[in-house]
Amino acid sequence: TGYPTKPPLRRFLTDCHAEFRTDNSGELADYIPELKRANPDHFGIALVTIDGHVYEVGDSEVPFTIQSVSKAFVFALALEMVGEARVSATIGVEPSGEAFNSIRLTNDNRPFNPMVNAGAIACSGLIYEVEGKGAFERVRAKLSAFAGRELGVDEAVHASETATGNRNRAIAWLLRNYAVLPDDVDAVLDVYFRQCAILVTARDLAVMAATLANRGINPVTGVQVITPHIVARTLSVMTSSGMYDYAGEWTYRVGIPAKSGVGGGIVAALPSQLGLGTFSPLLDNHFNSVRGLKVCEALSARFDLHMLNRN
Ligand code: GLN
Repeated sequence: TGYPTKPPLRRFLTDCHAEFRTDNSGELADYIPELKRANPDHFGIALVTIDGHVYEVGDSEVPFTIQSVSKAFVFALALEMVGEARVSATIGVEPSGEAFNSIRLTNDNRPFNPMVNAGAIACSGLIYEVEGKGAFERVRAKLSAFAGRELGVDEAVHASETATGNRNRAIAWLLRNYAVLPDDVDAVLDVYFRQCAILVTARDLAVMAATLANRGINPVTGVQVITPHIVARTLSVMTSSGMYDYAGEWTYRVGIPAKSGVGGGIVAALPSQLGLGTFSPLLDNHFNSVRGLKVCEALSARFDLHMLNRN
């Protein structure tokens, strides 16, 4: 085994980009009005190996909002900050089989898992309980360490989601009702909305994924961002729930732990091998990026990367 060697990989990514860029199926997310302003032609792919080689094709340096891709990394931060027992008592790890914005909770009134909105808002709540007003800064610093550079926020997207995010508000107040969230529900929601509006590129996502693939050490900066133990927990929930109600299909077909977001990003992390970041804002009916999904499928098939096909 070993990650694919350099020349065929670069050629493969270029071919993928050329082939899938003509696929204009899918829709821009529109329930956050500002996301409708995205350019549907944008398409970037970046791949980072665990020894720090960076491959980039297309719009790999175009910034977009991280949205739900943040959930994986904020979950890792919550584990680091409050520990596994506290996280487990608050949030489950079972796939919900429902869309990311489902308001349904488990029988014991917890979020199903940290990859859906309810669970992600609960993670923000745990971080808020420790850090208070500094919670978002803590999130931004951690995601920046994963990316290996200072990440900023798209204020327009943040304002747009704050103005329209009543469904997430309903989820948060339901969580408050069951004492999953602390009193300051609006402040917790603001941490969540802000983390979703963090600006990244496909390249950033690839470095973030490669950090997960590299047992928590950022392969570009050399910084140990998170412990290997937390990496394994994070990749587990990405495997079972990272692609929402397409997660089972995804793990069966692609077999690489991944997380998608409605901004059009996907991160995929193959342990001991590589991290992939894709960006294309046209989404399918599960709210996963159409072209990003195709890239992941093709990459997995071409280089035989299904994680359960290791030898
Ligand atoms: N901010 C978005 C929301 O909460 C994130 C959803 C997503 O990317 N799936 O609705």
